Amino acid sequence: MAADGIVILGAGPAGAAVAIGLARMGEPVVLVGEPRRFAAVEGVSARVIDALRGLGLQRALTAFAPPSPRRAVWNGTYTEANVESLVDRQRFDQGLLEDLERLGVPVVRGRVTALHPAPGGHELEIDTDAGPRRMAAGFLVEARGRAAPGGGAPRVRGVETVSLLQYWQGPAGEAGSTVLSVEDGWMWMAALADGRRYLQLTVDVASADLPPKRALGDYCSARFHAVEAAAPFVRDAQPVGEPHARTSTAVLNESVAGDDWIRVGDAAMAVDPLSGNGIFQALSSALQAPAVVATLRHDRGRTALAQHFHTRRIEHLFHRFARIGRDFYAQEARWPQAPFWAARRGWPDALPLHAKVRPETVRVARGPVVCAGRIVEQDVVVTPDQPLGVWHLDGLAVAPMLAALRREGGDALEKAAGEALLCARFGLERARAAAL
Ligand code: FAD
Repeated sequence: MAADGIVILGAGPAGAAVAIGLARMGEPVVLVGEPRRFAAVEGVSARVIDALRGLGLQRALTAFAPPSPRRAVWNGTYTEANVESLVDRQRFDQGLLEDLERLGVPVVRGRVTALHPAPGGHELEIDTDAGPRRMAAGFLVEARGRAAPGGGAPRVRGVETVSLLQYWQGPAGEAGSTVLSVEDGWMWMAALADGRRYLQLTVDVASADLPPKRALGDYCSARFHAVEAAAPFVRDAQPVGEPHARTSTAVLNESVAGDDWIRVGDAAMAVDPLSGNGIFQALSSALQAPAVVATLRHDRGRTALAQHFHTRRIEHLFHRFARIGRDFYAQEARWPQAPFWAARRGWPDALPLHAKVRPETVRVARGPVVCAGRIVEQDVVVTPDQPLGVWHLDGLAVAPMLAALRREGGDALEKAAGEALLCARFGLERARAAAL
């Protein structure tokens, strides 16, 4: 690849999605990544599976178990509302690399050890099995997840949180997961049909009374044995190896787009794992990214517009997930004074998840949209609940429709606003479902 090509750092779902998107647009792209180093199991909804299928990630999809029940014991109440697909993350991430190679995306397997500015772009140093290697890049996509160097203080950082993960092995049985609130945090417990159990305790860094590292295994075992909802996961099972600690603090990066680089996925913003939406958000931040990259590379007149588009989308997603988490934390009312719950039930702010919309707050504005693989400015319909604006629904431009209805006067205005909003809600859900 020529030195002015695009290099993607990191082979998680965000990096893989951007790589495929850019390759489909005919952009010169190389992905540099090393497989995930630690074992983990995560849970995703059907829309993530659909998105991965849409990207052609067949090997990665084989790492998912069939959908199994997702149970919750929250505020002392038991619910079994939906299902999720459990995924072995090491197998999944390995599958992503194999899929990229199969789909013809050039991959360099290795660890990025250094990054320097260079004439015309960037220079990378990479540790590969064949030895150290240098590579030039005209454009960088930073997708190394939470491990990506920060590049400055974060714009927003949530309450410091850590998740302790412990593997257990038991007899084969029914797959499923349970999320459970406890006084100092919450537990997520998953069982795979082959008998692997993955138990995760998430606590507050400042107030948790954790033992030294060497005693963490016994500590986690005792915590899981102590709660009734964990009984199906620990019965006839034994812990395997040492627990692994993962930072799970929500983080919005200070800056997510420059002239010749962008950040995507967890490298741009990482959400609280309580949402169970990390892979979804990584994919959604990555799906629009190819158009941002192409605009930054080929349409210098729209640099600021493309940066604005990417930055606002990331911020919007971050706050949306943060408020979903806040509202879920607030549903647990048994320990309002406990530090874990007191710190989270009001973060990041007191704004409602969905802003109230009245007809007079619906307006038409110029805003950035994705059109034919580029970021361009168009008339969009903006509401307090859709501050980024809605451009098209089912192929129809919404702003001219609203303007036409408004010209007809008061009653029509209300009707038009209502219809546009209904349309916006419905259409956005569909757009998301189609995109993801
Ligand atoms: P990652 O998946 O982190 O991918 C980054 C990639 O970059 C990795 O392959 C890594 O090996 C590679 N890399 C890192 N550094 C380098 C380097 N120097 N050189 C080369 N490669 C490098 N999400 C869910 O959807 N469901 C869940 O149940 C869930 N549970 C979670 C539980 C916890 C405790 C945590 C912390 C997160 C959880 N998540 C969950 C979130 C999910 O893991 C992430 O949001 C998602 O993986 C982000 O994707 P990504 O591609 O941005 O980054």
